[in-house]
Amino acid sequence: MDDVRQHYATWLRNTHAMEEQAITMLTGQASRLEHYPQVKARIESHLEETRAQAERLAQYLERTGKGSSTLKDFGGKLAAMGQAASGFFAGDEVMKGALAGYTFEQMEIASYTILIAAAEALGEEELVAIARQNLAEEQAMAEWLASQAPVLTTTFLARADADSEMAKR
Ligand code: MG
Ligand code: FE
Repeated sequence: MDDVRQHYATWLRNTHAMEEQAITMLTGQASRLEHYPQVKARIESHLEETRAQAERLAQYLERTGKGSSTLKDFGGKLAAMGQAASGFFAGDEVMKGALAGYTFEQMEIASYTILIAAAEALGEEELVAIARQNLAEEQAMAEWLASQAPVLTTTFLARADADSEMAKR
């Protein structure tokens, strides 16, 4: 049982670290975007949600004495993802960001799905409720990104085709 509790605590800390990383990524994307106002607005609203997600997890970690998050465990995975994403649309920041954002939401969905199953197995009902709320917000963001990706792509390509500076941010 000690091993199980340790896995659970580690996954919790990693999930909190993931949300801290999300805050960094979304803040950067929101600040760069200029000529894609709908995307910028949705990212800003998800940034607010993400800050609250991180805070809910931090408070739970503190209350239950499971420690604070370390970016150490999670950093390697993210670096790998960034490298994978950077090869595809060289020089095309907007589309690179869309790919990274879409990928990140899917990773969050997977993380919460796993965490909820672990919390249910351990009878950690408080965390189940927190993780379900966060999961619902990730799913809504992922669905929005999925629905917007095609039109974002065609908008970007049309602007690039017209040599418009608006394509870039
Ligand atoms: Mg999140
Ligand atoms: Fe998210």
